[in-house]
Amino acid sequence: MTMPPVKYQRGDMVMGRWPGSSLYYEVKVLAFDSKSQLYTVIYKDGTELELKEQDIKSTAGFQPRSRSRSRSPGRRRSRSRSPARTTRRSSSRTAAAVAAAAITDSAVSSRRDTRLKDVEVMLSPVVTYFWLLFLPAWVFFLVLQVNREDPSLTNFPPPLPPLEAFWDAQALGFVILWILFQALLYVTPVGKLSEGMPLRSGERLKYRTNGDAITVAAAVHQGVDLTYIHSHFLQLATASLLISILLSVYLYIRSRYAAPEQLALGGNSGNVVYDFFKGHELNPRIKNFDLKFFCEMRPGLIGWCLINFAMALAEMKQHGLDAPSNSMILVNLFQLLYVVDGLWNEEAILTTMDLMHDGFGFMLAFGDLVWVPFTYTMQAYYLVSHPNPLSLPALAAIVILKLVGFYIFRKSNSEKNAFRRNPADPRLSHLKTIPTATGKSLLVSGWWGVVRHPNYLGDLLMALAWSLPCGFSHLLPWYYMIYFIILLVHRDSRDMSDCRRKYGSAWDEYCRTVRYRIIPRVY
Ligand code: NDP
Repeated sequence: MTMPPVKYQRGDMVMGRWPGSSLYYEVKVLAFDSKSQLYTVIYKDGTELELKEQDIKSTAGFQPRSRSRSRSPGRRRSRSRSPARTTRRSSSRTAAAVAAAAITDSAVSSRRDTRLKDVEVMLSPVVTYFWLLFLPAWVFFLVLQVNREDPSLTNFPPPLPPLEAFWDAQALGFVILWILFQALLYVTPVGKLSEGMPLRSGERLKYRTNGDAITVAAAVHQGVDLTYIHSHFLQLATASLLISILLSVYLYIRSRYAAPEQLALGGNSGNVVYDFFKGHELNPRIKNFDLKFFCEMRPGLIGWCLINFAMALAEMKQHGLDAPSNSMILVNLFQLLYVVDGLWNEEAILTTMDLMHDGFGFMLAFGDLVWVPFTYTMQAYYLVSHPNPLSLPALAAIVILKLVGFYIFRKSNSEKNAFRRNPADPRLSHLKTIPTATGKSLLVSGWWGVVRHPNYLGDLLMALAWSLPCGFSHLLPWYYMIYFIILLVHRDSRDMSDCRRKYGSAWDEYCRTVRYRIIPRVY
């Protein structure tokens, strides 16, 4: 019987599939075992593996992206036929890993990007129609229902006010003024210039990052009666919705004239409604004014704090108090801390999916200008008409919960950010890592050794601390908590699949070592 000819020869440079993943890296063929029909190949970092012929391709015709990633496979040495066997080394920090490390994250940046992004994966053009109508309707439902004397869900639906009750020209004027005021601060030449990540065209855009407490302070010291925000919440929500729609129409039109290299990969289905929703142009700018970055960071996020503050004033006015209630103070301070923490790390948004990959369309514009300011403020809005006095022990327990949550959230996010920025950071040298074929390693001790998403755990504890001051009489002030659990569980499973695809068997090993996803011993 004649053996089929050996396809690849000793010394050939080919592309080898990393076991358990769909990624290919440049490898050199070392030998062929005719008995097992396996090729022994060596990766650029010295890793040797045995691959089947079907997992090898010739280098011709490969996308440059695959090749460039292949330059930095993590250090690994295995002669096993089982791809799952990975050698773990403590604090593996190769030069290649440093080079390949992508600067990632920050918490609030992701908080923003996710509001509606997790909805996005379920989108098809038909489903888009549903979301386009559902999302604004949901905001109005919350605003109308929470303000009722009995906001229980058994008391559903809230009576629909006459159409004119939704509209107030003055409210529109205030929203425009607020956005212009934020825009003015944004263009003020104060603060440092940061470079974004390279775009598809290779260009790096410059962003000015100067969001800070001055903005909030200046906004709340205008001398206007801020309780107007409470009494005109519905009209302000309508006005913001209108602005987000107009902005999205403008964005859609200008995206049709944008150069191809300025477009995002999505939002180009040809279906007008879908593209309008998803957004097409990546970083629409008017001269140096970056519309997406501005909307992501400024009017809605700072507006969230302003609205909470206005709710505290409205509570005092409505109940004749000299100071806001304990519950209201807690909600205000907790959420202020969350936003300030995000603004403090404002630059980190430049590396997020939102900025780097997503087109700017209705999904983000609505998320930034309507969803965040008008739904994340639900607890404060609820407390104005439904006071919930807190005993001192309850108050102390909630504060401790918030601080514990914040500590876990900040520490775990900072640990990963620092590691991604510089895997050789001496402050992290005590941490154990698992190398992966991409050149990046995975932390397997420290916070990332407790659960696979310690940052979600911290965030969820904080969300719990935001709802607890509202008591247990109604479900609606718990809306954020419920929404957030669904969102993070869904996001976690998306991230697990993405990481499984990216890191293959190294990811499996990480999951075997760190067994729980978000809550130790529970989930
Ligand atoms: P993460 O910050 O958890 O990032 C996940 C990525 O981290 C993975 O894709 C992987 O990317 C990297 N990673 C995973 N495991 C490890 C490990 N063991 N070692 C090193 N790197 C690892 O995701 P999010 O962007 O979802 O969350 C960021 C923050 O934002 C969280 O605190 C979250 O709670 C918060 N958030 C808040 C929301 C809100 O609306 N309030 C909404 C969503 C998030 P790679 O390897 O490519 O670097």
